[in-house]
Amino acid sequence: MARANTLRRWRGLGFCLLWAVAGLAQASSQIAIVVDDLGNQWRAGLSAINIPFVQTLGIMPGRPFTEALAQETHRAQKTVIVHAPMSNQRGLPLGPLGLDRREGREQLLANLLAGLDGVPYAEGLSNHMGSELTRDAEAMGWVMSELKTRQLFFFDSLTIADSQGWRVADSMGVPWSRRRVFLDHERTPEFLAQQWQQALAIARRQGNVTIICHPYPETLAFFASLDPADYPDIEWVSLKPLLHQPQPLPIEPEPDPIAPDDHLWVERPHGMPKGS
Ligand SMILES: [Zn+2]
Repeated sequence: MARANTLRRWRGLGFCLLWAVAGLAQASSQIAIVVDDLGNQWRAGLSAINIPFVQTLGIMPGRPFTEALAQETHRAQKTVIVHAPMSNQRGLPLGPLGLDRREGREQLLANLLAGLDGVPYAEGLSNHMGSELTRDAEAMGWVMSELKTRQLFFFDSLTIADSQGWRVADSMGVPWSRRRVFLDHERTPEFLAQQWQQALAIARRQGNVTIICHPYPETLAFFASLDPADYPDIEWVSLKPLLHQPQPLPIEPEPDPIAPDDHLWVERPHGMPKGS
């Protein structure tokens, strides 16, 4: 009898512990997923907006569905950012409203302004490609100056390791964040699953993570196979709670404290329509 009581007591204690652990596990990490390259396709864009894990959509300016997809994103109470094409080291074409300093400061700013004006509800801007322009601190300064005027944030896609984008944003007092994990630069279920696990591990270890992906069929299928109920410890946030709120200080060439893996910095011509 005494033994049964002891067992019952232990069992009760076990339940209490489980309860406590479950409580601790509640939404302790934040993940911000950005789906980039929206604007060329209507259905894929809508599917991306409706992914329950996703709160931020990167919409390219001057595309057939730019405005309509921004409206849909806003209607879904998610965050719109302008995904601005920027010049890259491989000479890949930028499409409409690309930012390239070879065309001169005036033209770059004209394209930037037209891009910002053409994407309704935009709260920030990120770079599409940009392995060349984001290394150019002066040109980044032109971009950040406009973002500051409009009180927009900058999300550095970090398509090259020594991007000056987030650094210049920081020095000019523009709120910023930067990409940590590319989910789908290889479009196979195995690769997507591997990157997903890596991102989850970083979020659980460090408290948060930022992810970039694209409205590829493989990526949409991957998200459709996931159930938000399987992640009670994760809060699926927009970029906004993860922004650094910088002080306007001079740029310091500090080592990158959370440098992503080098192999992730290979730039891909993701989602560019053929011939544009
Ligand atoms: Zn892109």
